[in-house]
Amino acid sequence: MLSSMMHQQLTIGSLIEHAGRYHGETAVVSVETNGEMSHSNWRTVYDNSRRLASALFKLGLKSGDRAATIAWNNRRHLEIYFGVASSGLVCHTINPRLFPEQIVYIINHAEDQVLFVDRTFLPIVEKLRDQLNSLKAVVLMGPRDDEASKVIDGLLFYDELLDSGDAEFDWPEIDENQPSSLCYTSGTTGNPKGVLYTHRSTVLHTMGGNQPDGLALSASDTVMPVVPMFHANAWGVPYIAAAVGCKLVLPGPGLDGPSLVKLIDGESVTLALGVPTIWQGLLIALDAAGSKAESLKRTVVGGSALPPSMIPIFRDRYGVDLVHAWGMTETSPLGTLNQLLQKHQVLDAQQQAILRLGQGRPPFGVELRLVDDDGGPVPQDGQAQGNLQIRGHWIVDTYFHAGETALTDDGWFDTGDVATLDPDGYMIIHDRSKDIIKSGGEWISTVELENIAISHPDVANAAVCAARHEKWDERPILIVVKAGGKDLSEGDLLAHFDGKIARWQLPDKVIFVDELPIGGTGKVLKNRLREQFGDILVS
Ligand code: AMP
Repeated sequence: MLSSMMHQQLTIGSLIEHAGRYHGETAVVSVETNGEMSHSNWRTVYDNSRRLASALFKLGLKSGDRAATIAWNNRRHLEIYFGVASSGLVCHTINPRLFPEQIVYIINHAEDQVLFVDRTFLPIVEKLRDQLNSLKAVVLMGPRDDEASKVIDGLLFYDELLDSGDAEFDWPEIDENQPSSLCYTSGTTGNPKGVLYTHRSTVLHTMGGNQPDGLALSASDTVMPVVPMFHANAWGVPYIAAAVGCKLVLPGPGLDGPSLVKLIDGESVTLALGVPTIWQGLLIALDAAGSKAESLKRTVVGGSALPPSMIPIFRDRYGVDLVHAWGMTETSPLGTLNQLLQKHQVLDAQQQAILRLGQGRPPFGVELRLVDDDGGPVPQDGQAQGNLQIRGHWIVDTYFHAGETALTDDGWFDTGDVATLDPDGYMIIHDRSKDIIKSGGEWISTVELENIAISHPDVANAAVCAARHEKWDERPILIVVKAGGKDLSEGDLLAHFDGKIARWQLPDKVIFVDELPIGGTGKVLKNRLREQFGDILVS
């Protein structure tokens, strides 16, 4: 051998070790379940995660066992993320807003041994406890609480568990291909499916997703993931924040606009991340509070399509750059982020803004392609729509306990999204394949119609779904929540579409509702709308 380079395993333990050692003093601020602020730092998170790991081994957990959480974004959840994964256990984050029977299904399917739960969600666990067969212990994420003890037999308390642990505990040797965390997709049909991330996929996602054209976090940032830690690991932000050692603000239970304004201004947040519905609430609250969100430079928006009308409001009123991103639980989740290329610098602001409406380009580490329904190639010309497929270092191969791979014969994962790709790799999502409206053999994008509806000043939120139609098979219908106190008619709203789409794409009906059904990760539940309104056009 001429020479060689060191070979080290890519592990989550090395991320928190870096944060503890080189960014120990940097703040981790968190809102507790009772609304109080708690102030910690990376050193304490590192120490507590080691205490927790040693305590879990004392409880009898073994490498590979799953420890689950039903929790908000808060400091204890962060310690669990690192303590569980770094010790070779698997951190299974559960979405508390799933139906109770789904929660039972996934805890039993994952064979979770321990369940960490925030006070808010204790009633859920109380109701389901008898059906959760694999659990050895339920741990309340807080100090001893005698009231809570009465609710669940043998309840343990997080703070006491930490006291019994050892802050000098050394992470065990871990192979980078070992699993580190588990997240089930919200799946609108059938049982949820588990995506089991590895140390390697997580560390590569951390590095690949944080390039300058990615999340671009640095040690001088203050980041606030509003996206829940149970939604694809808060888009990887906890790991990225540890890798760069930035200040981290965890918003706890208060995800309403006014609470977020208080945190942004009070903690000088520079980057926040979340789904579009969160930013709609924030805009209203900023206006009401008369805040200019001085510290905020960027927000990353994904999870569902970013309404184009939001970009200029954030930019012109608050000087905030909205970065549109796309991903899935199956993709860790960062699949694309929208930043401009060098050649776009000469374009005027308007042209640049148009380019940035789409979902963006893949970072190094993932690749995209389009195929037709038979798996044949679809041109990457920015015009032709096809089924979006992805492959890369942090993309699912086989769902948890599924037995067979989820990939195509040639090794790509089909996202279920319908998209265009241009020659530079800029991707635009036109719909989920199951949401797109097939009207007399032509496709109509629900996202496009929603964006137009939401740009009407009297509309607070809107969704489009397919309704069955005797002649055309399916036609679009528009379900709308009016902005507070506005008097908007069907005719006025439909007139707003004039000149923006072809006439045959115009929704057949507008239905005004008080609110849209929103799922656990902040997305409109289109299947619920189809169930409710799907027959409205047939006699
Ligand atoms: P989930 O795994 O629950 O996060 O859902 C992933 C799905 O959300 C994707 O397949 C898309 O359909 C949708 N999605 C995520 N980000 C975007 C985005 N920026 N624009 C449109 N749809 C999105």
